[in-house]
Amino acid sequence: MKNKFLFGVVGHHISYSQSPQIFEVIASALNLEHSFVLHDIDPSTFDEQFPQVLASGIDGFSVTIPHKNRVVKFLDRIDPVAALLRAVNSVRIRDGQVTGFSTDGDGFAIPLEKHREELMGGKALIFGAGGAATAVIHCLHTRFGTARFYVLGRDREKLNRFASSLAQGIPEVELDTLTISEYAAVRDENYSIVVNCTPLGGWNHPNATPLPGDFVWRPGRVYYDLSYNEGNKIVAQARQRSMIAYDGSAMLVGQALRSFHLWTGYSVAFDNVYRAVFGNSGD
Ligand code: NAP
Repeated sequence: MKNKFLFGVVGHHISYSQSPQIFEVIASALNLEHSFVLHDIDPSTFDEQFPQVLASGIDGFSVTIPHKNRVVKFLDRIDPVAALLRAVNSVRIRDGQVTGFSTDGDGFAIPLEKHREELMGGKALIFGAGGAATAVIHCLHTRFGTARFYVLGRDREKLNRFASSLAQGIPEVELDTLTISEYAAVRDENYSIVVNCTPLGGWNHPNATPLPGDFVWRPGRVYYDLSYNEGNKIVAQARQRSMIAYDGSAMLVGQALRSFHLWTGYSVAFDNVYRAVFGNSGD
């Protein structure tokens, strides 16, 4: 097998990315030579710049906010889950073929395995209606049996598009979409998990929150934030309110390991990589 690789990440405002460090740990564990490039591309120049990434000799790269849909038209092939979700977060270039995958669900599921029973047949409150929210809903529904979803966003038209796209991809999902100002309508719903699928509270918006002022914290239930910035204030607040809170660090490592396997054929154990990057076991 090949033992020298070029990897990267394609996104915008991604200087915070911990992907280079994660891929360094994975490649070192396997004694593989590699380089990793951050491709920060403004949405307005994406169509000109993205083909240059594809032509750079790159073997595989992650795709993050806000380009997960934009890459689709450049692919030769798309795997069934990514096609269903209409969002690609991992691209492999092999033998001239550009293939898109969705590995977010693989990473997202990792901390939830121990909550399978509580999630089964339950309800989920989701903030954000982008690519990651779709992957989260698909994962919760197909792997953990979550039955009903309330998705809150800031723009009614985007929420409508999100709902109709989801209805085509995963028609069996029961979904209500609401603007943040309509939160009162679901405040008393008995949800088992709350997921923040917006960048608010993360690296670029550390003091912002998507949660409304009258948000009801549910002690003993799961709060899951996809951001993985150290000291995330919403995660800390959720713990103070006795929710079981996770940030996106395990998801980040889990989806990177899955991507690495897709790009190279090699695998490394999750715990070793997580500990090397984040300095603890993540429990
Ligand atoms: P996306 O497709 O661009 O969707 C982002 C969502 O957040 C949209 O609903 C967007 O609303 C909303 N949003 C963005 N800025 C906002 C603001 N200032 N105020 C209110 N809402 C705002 O992005 P994504 O791929 O779903 O990713 C979402 C977040 O998850 C990002 O922070 C990303 O880094 C994180 N993520 C983490 C992992 C991990 O491994 N830990 C994996 C995937 C994603 P509009 O549609 O109205 O713009």
